[in-house]
Amino acid sequence: MELEAYARTDVGPVREHNEDAWMIDLESGVFVVADGMGGHAAGEVASALATETVHEVLVGAPDPEETRLVRDHGLEDSADVLRERLRYAMNQASIRIRRESEARPETRGMGTTLVVLVVDGDHAHLAHVGDSRAYLWRAGRLVRLTRDHTVVQQEIDNGNLSPELARLLPNKHILTQSVGFHGPVEPDTTTRMVEPGDVFVLCSDGLTDPLDDDALSKIIAATPIDMLAHVLVEEALKAGTEDNVTVVAVGVT
Ligand code: CA
Repeated sequence: MELEAYARTDVGPVREHNEDAWMIDLESGVFVVADGMGGHAAGEVASALATETVHEVLVGAPDPEETRLVRDHGLEDSADVLRERLRYAMNQASIRIRRESEARPETRGMGTTLVVLVVDGDHAHLAHVGDSRAYLWRAGRLVRLTRDHTVVQQEIDNGNLSPELARLLPNKHILTQSVGFHGPVEPDTTTRMVEPGDVFVLCSDGLTDPLDDDALSKIIAATPIDMLAHVLVEEALKAGTEDNVTVVAVGVT
């Protein structure tokens, strides 16, 4: 499988800082979007630290603690091992952000979302914490691969709230977990087979606030992969997003 990937980020029309971060490492098949939070530019510190840390852990040699975790859990299947690495990498990011915010009081309380895609041969491994999302476009259909870690998503799952109403709530971004701020994290992780023609889209909520899944699906259907990140961000800005917007688009050929 050959991969191609494209990213675009935009600060948006309202914010002074872009607190989103992204990473494309085609050689290792690692792709990341993070959406930081915290005052006085702390959000961008958190998202950058998380992105760097996750990448470092994933492409580096397993450290002794990580090796012990894999052994203790009796993990032999390579997909299980990789998902454990993702979980470990995100928790290392969390530890690093908390250390940094203890050392620098002005960044206290900072945190970030994280969505990480690792394509390894014909497998795609995905992990996320927070409300940055991953989508898969396959055979003309868009599937959301992540479930937001938000209070409103919990209410939707409990049957107390409709997705349509949830989109309108002012507090819809309250997270049930975030990297750094919440300390230890329990990311959702999945593994699936990839197929030629697959397109993965990682994004921050600046994209999905103004554009629902139907709108995203129409744009993706009409846009070549090398223009997709650009066009999606453009459409979010046109649709009135007030937030930072970030998209990483990964195509499988
Ligand atoms: Ca955001």
